[in-house]
Amino acid sequence: MEKNFVIAIDIGGTNIRLALVSQENEILLKFKEPTGIGHFNIIHKLIEIAYEYYPNEISGIGVAVAGIIDREAGTVIKSPNIQWLNGVNLISEISERHNLPVFIDNDANAAAYGEKISGAGKNYKSFVMFTLGTGIGGGIVINNELLPIAAEIGHMTINPNGNKCSCGNIGCLEAHASATAIVEYATSHIKNGVESILSRLYNGNYFKITAHDIYKSALEGDSLSRNTLKEAGKSLGLGISNVINIFSPEAVILTGGLVGSWNIFIENAIKEASRRSLAELFNKTKIIPSSLGDDAGIIGAASLVFKGFKAF
Ligand SMILES: [Zn+2]
Repeated sequence: MEKNFVIAIDIGGTNIRLALVSQENEILLKFKEPTGIGHFNIIHKLIEIAYEYYPNEISGIGVAVAGIIDREAGTVIKSPNIQWLNGVNLISEISERHNLPVFIDNDANAAAYGEKISGAGKNYKSFVMFTLGTGIGGGIVINNELLPIAAEIGHMTINPNGNKCSCGNIGCLEAHASATAIVEYATSHIKNGVESILSRLYNGNYFKITAHDIYKSALEGDSLSRNTLKEAGKSLGLGISNVINIFSPEAVILTGGLVGSWNIFIENAIKEASRRSLAELFNKTKIIPSSLGDDAGIIGAASLVFKGFKAF
């Protein structure tokens, strides 16, 4: 019997997503669990649940992981936001237990590939994808091919005197424009006495404030929240202008929870990118949201198996 389905897993800094995906890139089942600390048991359990649906029709498991990975060896070399994965060989960890072929790639690369095969990147020969979440990742498609490179665009330095990044460097894009950076910016200002409706949330437990809370407060006119998103947008715009100048892509595709705040955060990013990129290159680059959203990494991870993309 032809095997029609794969199990796709997307391990991000905040959530682990697992889905059963058909050859036509349809998602049949979807599960989501918080990434937490050392959640291998959850991964194994979810695989078993998904496997039970079509025990004879699963051809393999595709895994997208946030971090620097060795695709061929199957090792997570370094994942700044998911420390328990550092040094882990995901291929042996998963294939030994489930007896299926396993393929891995970086999560943002997988997401870019997902957008290329069935999302916003479908009609573009070249684009750069930014995944805006707990951290910032990237994937680069040139001439319809995903570049087999790290594409860690979140760790480009945009401010040599800026914030400390989870990678140890100072002033990375991720340290200024990720959800984590946005929350830190707003909460540090509240702690320094800046007035904000955010300070009324969670009985003053500021550590519970999310980027989404900041966006909601910004829509209600809270000036600290608006300034936070504007500042982060400016930083993102710097990062976008750098990739436009280097790659002159047809499109820049933005994805992640923060893209929901398009009208403040992203509009400021576009304004800054237009100021700083070469005009001839900026004018031919479309800056657009992803169309698969959270599913891009899942679709990309599934395609690793379908295409047998052990190494791009
Ligand atoms: Zn960094």
